[in-house]
Amino acid sequence: MARLEQRVLDSTSGDALNRALRGERLDFKDGVSLFQEEDLHLVTYVADQVRQRVVGENVSFVVGYNMNYSNVCVASCQICAFYRKKDDKDAYTYSKDEVLQQVAEGVEWGATEIHIVGGFNPYLALEYYEEIFAAIKEKFPRVIIKALTMAEVFFIAKITKNSIQEVLGRLKASGLGALPGGGAEIFDDDIRPFVARGKLTAEEWLRTAEVAHRMGIRSNSTMLYDHIENDTHRVDHILRLRDLQDKTGGFISFIPLKFSPANTELSARGSLHRKTSPLIDIRVTAVSRLLLADSIKNIVVYWVPLGKDVAQSCLLAGGNDLMGTSFREKIYKEAGKNEIATKADLANMVTEIGRAPVERDTFYNIIQRM
Ligand code: SF4
Repeated sequence: MARLEQRVLDSTSGDALNRALRGERLDFKDGVSLFQEEDLHLVTYVADQVRQRVVGENVSFVVGYNMNYSNVCVASCQICAFYRKKDDKDAYTYSKDEVLQQVAEGVEWGATEIHIVGGFNPYLALEYYEEIFAAIKEKFPRVIIKALTMAEVFFIAKITKNSIQEVLGRLKASGLGALPGGGAEIFDDDIRPFVARGKLTAEEWLRTAEVAHRMGIRSNSTMLYDHIENDTHRVDHILRLRDLQDKTGGFISFIPLKFSPANTELSARGSLHRKTSPLIDIRVTAVSRLLLADSIKNIVVYWVPLGKDVAQSCLLAGGNDLMGTSFREKIYKEAGKNEIATKADLANMVTEIGRAPVERDTFYNIIQRM
């Protein structure tokens, strides 16, 4: 038996870790203890064991092309450096031709997925989205359109006076393939207004996801961390996602998103409670894996806000998917993160840690082993 496993079994405080090793489901109290009390070395060891059991040795990545169709937004989330008001000189909305031009560039680079998100733009009709999705699918039928956060879907339904189901039904008919799962931020009702002013509530996010899943539209799930939240908020968030996954099975992955503070109101106000340590990133990945062990199989490591070294450590702590190729991503770029990686860069990051890189599609089907 491995020495670390023996340490877990011997540990008097390691009850949650013991039960995780035995394949038992962990609860809220366990999650908090994994954040606050347990030895990080043991937490990452057990998370890695669970990762091996659930998904094996592959580390997958999708070649995606990010397109932010408009930065016009009537909300003004304190975490956001991306939004502009309609009359700002750098406000923009892409025309159908501009969208197609960008997708062509992405397809030329090998993208199999087009990730499309923007803000709450009240000047766009539902037909705008239908037209750009249909045009993409007509010209590039093989790409998967993964578009619109739950927050955008909810907003579009509200301003167009349609139900969520009607909006999603029309968008699916136009080519929408999956939802990226953004806009969740952190669900806790007490702190949500301080990070996501003007956005939908946690219940509204979860309801939108549930409607989508029941219509056969699968999605990612996300959590924004390292701003003003504490450990209990993180555990609560992850468990609310797990509850919905129990009902629908529609989440493809869980993506912990590290907050990038540059150019955001939250940072300017000096109200952040950040510890900003790579150890937090590693622990968030590991605890996510342990709490979601029998639920959402794919734990994604988004390397752009983490940096490549920390991302590799997160892959050794329960992560099994590396996101992203990040071509043209603007949201993190506005918040000070501006790097891209090619397929070869991602494959190298994976082989350097002794795992097997595979290119996947949106739904985790393997396209090629690298
Ligand atoms: S996070 Fe989204 S909804 Fe909030 S201000 Fe930025 S673009 Fe708008």
